[in-house]
This record gives sequence, structure tokens and C-alpha cells, in this order.
Amino acid sequence: MKRPDLTYPYFNSKDNLNSHYYLLYCCDVLTSILQYADNKNLGNISIKFSNDDWEKFSKLNDNDDRADWLVSNGYKNQVYEKDYRHILFSAIKDFHNFMFESIICAGKMKLSVAYALLRRPFKDTLGIIEWLAVDRDTVIYNLSETDNPTKLKVNFHKAQDLTNGVKEKYGFEPHFDLRYKNKNTNLSFELIWNKALHIVTAKTSPSGKGELNFVFTDKDKLAEFSDWYYKVVPLVMNYALELIVTLFEAIAMPNEITVTVNKFNRLIHCNSVMPTITDLLRSNTIPFFCPQCETPYDAEYDEFASQLLCGTLYCNNCNTEIDTRLYITEYENIVI
Ligand SMILES: [Zn+2]
Repeated sequence: MKRPDLTYPYFNSKDNLNSHYYLLYCCDVLTSILQYADNKNLGNISIKFSNDDWEKFSKLNDNDDRADWLVSNGYKNQVYEKDYRHILFSAIKDFHNFMFESIICAGKMKLSVAYALLRRPFKDTLGIIEWLAVDRDTVIYNLSETDNPTKLKVNFHKAQDLTNGVKEKYGFEPHFDLRYKNKNTNLSFELIWNKALHIVTAKTSPSGKGELNFVFTDKDKLAEFSDWYYKVVPLVMNYALELIVTLFEAIAMPNEITVTVNKFNRLIHCNSVMPTITDLLRSNTIPFFCPQCETPYDAEYDEFASQLLCGTLYCNNCNTEIDTRLYITEYENIVI
């Protein structure tokens, strides 16, 4: 399939268009992960009861809390695993919903809406996903056992702990300053969010004389906001995608080939907007082969990368086509 020739009238540079493609690709990977989880029923887990327990469990009536009974009778791990998966997949869906709409608005230069829509996924939803990644039991406990919603709030200090935890456990850069810092920085979404959410601001980043935030913004200023969006949003999106894929793969347990192929595909896509790893990729031989006929792909790096970016990997031997805009699952059928 050929990459669609998008003629958005508003992009002021090729870089922004590439960034736009990259962000949409990340959204498509998230969608395909959710679809895969749904098809494989990954939200459910099976519980092996002892005979006695099964008898007691099946005699519970409608008024009894089954999850409570399981937790108090030695099945807490299984109940928490099911809760974890349910919360995680739901949070990924929430993250995707907001991100997708934000990206579409950015592409149409509706930048106040695009920025306003980033606040919940970047601060709150990603915060919950990070919390699940470093301390899932506390999230589940606070959600199911307490009536106090403030216990689940990801405030500045909580976010600091969680992002440090993610850094330590997974080695990713969670971009804490960009997402949470609101003082002594020009590199933060907070100031823009303030203006995107309120038409007049007085304290932090006060509206200038004769200004209603984002209302009278002229063309040049809008172009600046657009450039910043397409430079910075991919950084956080890339991090979110890597963290989510790591958590997803720990549940789905795809085979090694699937993991490698997808890692490579994500790197190539990321490299198209953040070109820092080209040399590293070039120095490696292409590790892919066709999942249908198992013939190695015989292509130079540039051609191979361009196939991945255009959305289809094509086998010259058996004509099999793989959609590379998604989380690739074709290699799951290979016996290794
Ligand atoms: Zn083939």
C-alpha cells in the first residue's frame, strides 16, 4: 500500500508532516494492541480452584462480593492480575482517545484544542499507567478498597516518585519536566495548558494587554505553536508507546521474533522524526524474514526502512504483505 498523499493545507514544514505521521502511527500501534488483547481475551485470566473452594465459590449468591471472597481465600494474586489488566487496557484506551483527537486538531491548526486535549493523557492517564508499571498493587487497592479518590491522584510529588521509579525499573526517560513542571522553565506544557484551558490568565503566564488567550493569535504565532507541538509531543508519545508496549508484551508474551520485529519497526518510525539512531540501525544487518515463506528480506537499509514507513513490507518471493503501521503479529504463527 502506498503512503497516502495527505494534502493538509496547514502544515508549515515537511518536518511537521513527518511528525504528524509518526504520531498517527503511534496511535495505530495502540489500537492494534487493544484489538489483539481483545481478540486473545487477555483481560481475563483463569483460576484453578481446589475442589472444596470451587464448591464454596459456586454457592455464593448474588449479594456476595465474589472478588472479596477470592481475595480472602487465597486467590488475591489472580484477582489482582485480572484487575491490573482491566485497568491497564482501559487506561491505554483513554490515553489513545485523547491523543488521537489532539493530533487531528493539531493537523488542522486548531492548536488551543490540540494542546488542551494533551493535559489528561500526558499528566493523569500516563501517570496512572506509570503507577501500574511500578506499583500496581497500590493502584488496585486504592481503587477497589478505599472510597477516597484523592488516594489515586497523581500530583506533582507523586509524579516525581513514579517517573523516577519508571526510570529506575525500565530505563526510559519519562519527561517529567515537560509534563509536570510549571515553574522556572520554558520547556513545559503547563504554561501552554494554562492558556489553552483559560481564555484569560492572571497568575502564571498572564494574558498580555488586549489579549484573550489563543483567541486573537495571528498566523506566525500559530505556526510557532504548531512547530513546538510537532517537536515536543513525539518525545512524550515515543516514551508512552515504549512503556505501554513493554507492559503489553509482559502480558501477551509474544515470541522473540515478534518482539524484535516490532522494536525495529518502532525504531525506524521514531527515527524518521528523531534522527539520532540511524547509524546504529545501519550498522546492523536487517533481522527480518518473511513470516509466510521464511525467506530473508533482501533489501538495502534505506529501501527496507522506506517500506516500513510506507506501511507495507512486501515479500518478493511469495508476495506476502505485512501491514507495518500496527503492532505486527504475523510472526506469532512461526514455530521457533
Ligand atoms: Zn514470503
